[in-house]
Amino acid sequence: MPELPEVETVRRELEERVSGRKIEKIIVNASRLLRGISEKSFISQVTGTSITGVQRAGKLLIIELSCGKAITVHLKMTGQLVYPGDGKASRVRFLLSGGGYLDFNDRRLFAEIGLTDDWRRIDFVESLGPEPFDVSPAVFHAMLAGRKTKIKPLLLDQTFMAGIGNLYAAESLFRAGIHPAREARSLSAQESGLLLAAISKTLKEAIRHNGSSLDQYVRPSGEKGDFVRFHKVYAKEGRICGRCGGTIKRISLGGRGTYFCPGCQK
Ligand SMILES: [Zn+2]
Repeated sequence: MPELPEVETVRRELEERVSGRKIEKIIVNASRLLRGISEKSFISQVTGTSITGVQRAGKLLIIELSCGKAITVHLKMTGQLVYPGDGKASRVRFLLSGGGYLDFNDRRLFAEIGLTDDWRRIDFVESLGPEPFDVSPAVFHAMLAGRKTKIKPLLLDQTFMAGIGNLYAAESLFRAGIHPAREARSLSAQESGLLLAAISKTLKEAIRHNGSSLDQYVRPSGEKGDFVRFHKVYAKEGRICGRCGGTIKRISLGGRGTYFCPGCQK
């Protein structure tokens, strides 16, 4: 599933490619992706408006429009936004001024597209915890204090912190040398500082490499994200740890597969 680095990559590339363009026509091939709005209403409200900017809140993508409204896009498992698209797998197509379609593809149809008057006030955005880059080490340590929850499932909780999913939680915990099943409250100030720094560094490196294309995720250009080759533990069960020579393990935490190195993570 696309996480913060993938959604941020999509945001940046979309802003470059489609900002300022007018949406001249919309073709909806899968109306079930539209949430809280009918196909007819979506088409009539969005057609003729221009894209003024692209924002991100956690894993949510926000396409701001000249009419003052915004299209919200949650890519979920297999959503893609591609420009210019070829229409082969498109669920929703936006014909833009100057030519070319912005295609929304989604093989598994789990994605959600909405239209909102004020995206900062929608429940999903208001429920989000802070962005990892906005938190100081002292505040992060205070956020962990008193919490018996295991650290890895806590990092996946979007109300605790926004944007981290299964992949970057595993990679960040490995880089910080922290076992994913540790109780959050057991982390010392030094350990929580190391973890916050590892989260920030891992996410920034992943953004620099345009995210991780493991499954369906692609950049708006259609190219893949390159960060997969820097993964240390994710989906590497049974492989040799590059740091200690031990064997990478997989356990289940909070119902999610969790990869880590027992030698490196305490
Ligand atoms: Zn190791």
